Amino acid sequence: MYTLLKKDKNTEARLGKIITSHGEVDTPNFMPVGTSASVKTLTPQDLKSVGTQIILSNAYHLLLRPGAQIIENAGGLHKFMNWDGPILTDSGGFQVFSLAQLRKIKDDGVEFQSHIDGSKYFITPESIIDFQKVLGSDIMMVLDECIPYPCEHDYAKIALKRTTDWARRSKEAFIFAKESTTRYLPCRQAGASRDTRYELFGIVQGGTYPDLRKQAVKELIDIGFDGYAIGGLSVGEPTELMYETLDVTVNLLPDDKTRYLMGVGTPQDIVEAVSRGIDIFDCVVPTRNGRNGTAFTTEGLVKIRNAKHKNDYSALDKNCDCECCKNYTRSYLNHLFNVNEILGLRLLSLHNVSFYATLMKNIRCSIEDGSFIDFKKSILDIYEKQPLKRDLSSI
Ligand SMILES: [Zn+2]
Repeated sequence: MYTLLKKDKNTEARLGKIITSHGEVDTPNFMPVGTSASVKTLTPQDLKSVGTQIILSNAYHLLLRPGAQIIENAGGLHKFMNWDGPILTDSGGFQVFSLAQLRKIKDDGVEFQSHIDGSKYFITPESIIDFQKVLGSDIMMVLDECIPYPCEHDYAKIALKRTTDWARRSKEAFIFAKESTTRYLPCRQAGASRDTRYELFGIVQGGTYPDLRKQAVKELIDIGFDGYAIGGLSVGEPTELMYETLDVTVNLLPDDKTRYLMGVGTPQDIVEAVSRGIDIFDCVVPTRNGRNGTAFTTEGLVKIRNAKHKNDYSALDKNCDCECCKNYTRSYLNHLFNVNEILGLRLLSLHNVSFYATLMKNIRCSIEDGSFIDFKKSILDIYEKQPLKRDLSSI
């Protein structure tokens, strides 16, 4: 359940809170990505130590491996991975449309082959809700059709019609799942506890076409969701087009529901989107870059493999108090990456997740004290000089 606490007077930025049965999430907030029930190289204790409040996991990957039965037997995803905070699960729509092979889109669902071993799956809006219920997700996402960029208007319109139809069916399945202890999928026994505290978010699609985005918002609001995600952005379109699409979309969303921008982004994207009224984000950017040797710091990007760090005995970020910055030097981190030691990947991942948690905390503090517009400028001043290539590969 979302509560709006304060609106910024200079921008559309919002301060709020999402209450879930696994804890509260202060917004704006960022979700590290735990694709396959793990935020790569980090333990749940690591995540908590740097202030992470919510993580994202992914129904597509978990459906393929380890599969529903293993997680159900473990007592749900929280117990399986030992994370007791809130979890949002993506429906897998994005992965089905970007990773899976031999995809056949039908009006009742999608048939695809696993990108891992070629085994066949058929998912429907209902089966994906059912699976997310097995996972015990605090926030579930509807199944949607993700179109590429660029995409012709005619196809974007057909895909949107299907996405809206799937959203309606997802909502019906969600209500059924909340009110019932039985399940859609016949392969598993009934017996889930009646728990009405999880939420379902709709996903606004429509490519970069303002008319379709507006239509999508209207139709989703008519169906009614606990929150609204904006999907299909940061998929290759120019940055300005992404912001323009946000401009025509975000203000149409209800004030009293969470707004989630999927798969975005860099520090500059985050402050730009917050200033347009977005509440939550997820992206592989901090963890994937960490594993590649790129750190986000209060002074900008640091490429730790660079030879200039070889004799630098200062902290990675002197303004950060994470385990990496408190205890290790740039010289040591440079060495770890040069000799391919796994500890290097872990320490930079930890630092980057810490940087993002602190970035979001500072955004919240600045909205609270009315200085968000200045804080946004300070982030843009640092990070616009060092554009990070958007990572278009799927999670
Ligand atoms: Zn640090």
